[in-house]
Formats: sequence, C-alpha cells, structure tokens
Amino acid sequence: MKMSEIFYSIQGEGIKTGLPSVFFRVSHCNLRCHWCDTPYTSWKPENKEVTVEQAVNMIEEYGCKNVVITGGEPFVWKKELRFLCDQLWYDGYHITIETNATIFEEVEFDLMSMSPKLESSTPYDRDPKWAKKHDRERVKIDVIDEFISRCTHNNLRDYQLKFVVVDGSELEEIQDILGSLRQYSNRNVLLMPEGRTAKEVEDKQLWLVELCMAHGFRYSDRLHTRLWGTKRGV
Ligand code: SF4
Repeated sequence: MKMSEIFYSIQGEGIKTGLPSVFFRVSHCNLRCHWCDTPYTSWKPENKEVTVEQAVNMIEEYGCKNVVITGGEPFVWKKELRFLCDQLWYDGYHITIETNATIFEEVEFDLMSMSPKLESSTPYDRDPKWAKKHDRERVKIDVIDEFISRCTHNNLRDYQLKFVVVDGSELEEIQDILGSLRQYSNRNVLLMPEGRTAKEVEDKQLWLVELCMAHGFRYSDRLHTRLWGTKRGV
C-alpha cells in the first residue's frame, strides 16, 4: 500500500480526544474535498510504498498500543488494510480507523470513525470533473449501515459519525443522512467545525456548540489544529 506518514501524537478529534496514539496515514483517496486538510494524500498523493509487515514494524517502534489508521482513505487499500488490522488486533492494539465511509470491507477495529462528506466539501470551482465523481460518491448509506451493524453485533466495538460543518444551514443535510440510516444513536454523532487554523475553528465553535446543544449531538473540537495549525507530523 502507499503511505504518507507515521507519527506519535494525541488524538485531536472525536470521542477519543486527548488519547496518545500512533497515527499511520495512508496515501490516496477516492474523494476530493475542496477543503481537504491532507491534500498530500488526495489532490497530490505521496507515494511511499510499504508492505503490511513494514507498516506493523513501524507502528510497533512507538511502543504505544493505540493506533489510528487514517488517510487519505484507508479503505482504498481494502486487502492490505484487512491484513494490517488483523495483525494489529492480534498484537493487542486499540484500532481506530478514520474513514469517509464510502467503501466497505470486513476488518478488525475498535472504533470506526466515519466522516460522511456534506455538499460543502464538493470541489465545484476547483475541479469540475472531480466534483461530479465526488458528489456521486460522498455519501454511501449502505456502507455506514454496515459499519454500524458491526458495532451493534459486537459491543466491544464502537463507531462515531463525525460531520465537518462549514455553516449552520447544513443541519438539514445532516438530518437527512441520519434519517436514511437503519439505526444510529445521537451519542455517536459529532459535529466538528471546518478549519485549518485555530482562528477558523474558533470562528465556528460557539454557534456550532449551540447547534449541538439544541439537537442533542456531541461537539468535536480540532485540538491538533488549535495546537499546531497545519504543521505535519504532530
Ligand atoms: S475524504 Fe478525507 S482525505 Fe479524502 S479528500 Fe476528503 S478530507 Fe481529504
């Protein structure tokens, strides 16, 4: 598979915020969010070839049993991802997978962190050809349903639905997606401000917290953005 980077940091988003973790970032993505905060895995993907065995060895070197497999889109590498998760599971890791939830594969995991993309992510101005594909593929209800059902059948697993929000008018779109799912719980739904700098996050946080309170969703910060902005490897 192709990877972009590996580093040790704390989880900055979602229900595991603050947890020290090793981040293994794969390269390549099937979508092209116009505000993608890792364009070096999507718009201009980096291409370091790595075998599953090498990936496991690199992760092991950090001596931390929490691993976050992120991207890019990890499920672009379905077969390799399955082998990687099998090995990490066997070795006793807590596995979080950060995914756009558009591709399904049966893999071992502890937390499936799904981030379905809203219309505001579509790169209309940036690349009309990609915009069409992106818009067609950005929400796959059947894939989200499958991942959630893997958690309800195994209560050692959990999931989160993390929506990146640009403005409050997107609430209806979020509710439409949630309303199409077979099942979900509000405790697993997080709204997170879009932003690549601390200022962009701060500008959205107050109205987004109020929106969460009004509708019973969780608020997710972007702690790493606040602390380090767009700096890589942290
Ligand atoms: S799904 Fe994630 S990695 Fe892919 S383009 Fe969007 S933000 Fe970037």
